[in-house]
Amino acid sequence: MEPSIRKRIRDGLAWRMRPVTRYVSRYRPVFIVQNYHRLFRDTLTTDFDEGVFGGISEEYFRRQLAHLARDYDVLSEGEVIDCLGGKGRFPRKALLLTFDDGYKDNYTLAYPVLQGLRLPALFFIPTLPWSTRQLGWWDLIAWCVKKTDRPTVTIDGEARPLGTTAEKAAAITRLLQKFYRLPDAETRDLLETLSRDLDVALPDTDVQSRELMTTAEIREMLDHGMAVGAHTHSHKVLSTLDRQAQDREIGTSKQLLEEGLGVAVRSFAYPVGTAHSFDDGTKKLVRDHGFSLAFSFYSGVNDPAGGIDPYDIRRTFRGHPYAGFLESFREPYTFIHPRQ
Ligand SMILES: [Zn+2]
Repeated sequence: MEPSIRKRIRDGLAWRMRPVTRYVSRYRPVFIVQNYHRLFRDTLTTDFDEGVFGGISEEYFRRQLAHLARDYDVLSEGEVIDCLGGKGRFPRKALLLTFDDGYKDNYTLAYPVLQGLRLPALFFIPTLPWSTRQLGWWDLIAWCVKKTDRPTVTIDGEARPLGTTAEKAAAITRLLQKFYRLPDAETRDLLETLSRDLDVALPDTDVQSRELMTTAEIREMLDHGMAVGAHTHSHKVLSTLDRQAQDREIGTSKQLLEEGLGVAVRSFAYPVGTAHSFDDGTKKLVRDHGFSLAFSFYSGVNDPAGGIDPYDIRRTFRGHPYAGFLESFREPYTFIHPRQ
């Protein structure tokens, strides 16, 4: 059968089944982990990667959370650990809020909103950017392309135009896709080549540092009900590393956070978090290092009744439009599908 015909039959069936799936979705218990990276204040202006903002302004974030807090029980990290450890039961509609990568606006914009609504959240901090005050390669690529006066950039032998903002945005997307596929050892060299080819120096440490939370800011959040998790040391995609290097990345990040912040670090998030960015061996290392929870990021919801793997807790990001956002949380099993 033609794949397109098969798809049409499947879509037709899905449509006919909608009332049933809606009913199931509404009454089946659910645990959703909504993930963010960055927020902007009013309009998005940045010299760095725009993709990590996901279109979420501070005001939009406030509206999302006010809505979710009415409909869902927002759990703390400790409550999730208890529920998965058999010391408690998930409420029927459970939600955990997480943030990745330790950006400054997590403290300046998200934290006040969370405090105002009295909601806890879990922040994953990669320890190399935090301790050396250096941004990830995705931000530095965006910086180089945005700042260059060169008319083109060569990607895989093909010259791409950089004349307009839209052309620059397309080139950044293309470069990020290329970098994501690379073994980590090659990313630093390629970044230096890009900086040279585009004739743009990488930003000074203080310019990079301003984009990241400080230790004092993280400590203040910890004192007010927030939690911190590990996200490797250098934010390498773990599947690109051998087992020993994975072990070092996971162990170092836990040790540095615990020493630097004086708290037990119990949660881990796989960098990038797609199904191919970690495997069973990685999960075992995370467990052996004493973490209680580990989070992926290939979408999907968690089913407390069907069993949840504490070392592959699904996370999702729902952004714009607001109407779609509301619908997706009202009927999560219909709308938030796992994407492999
Ligand atoms: Zn990350």
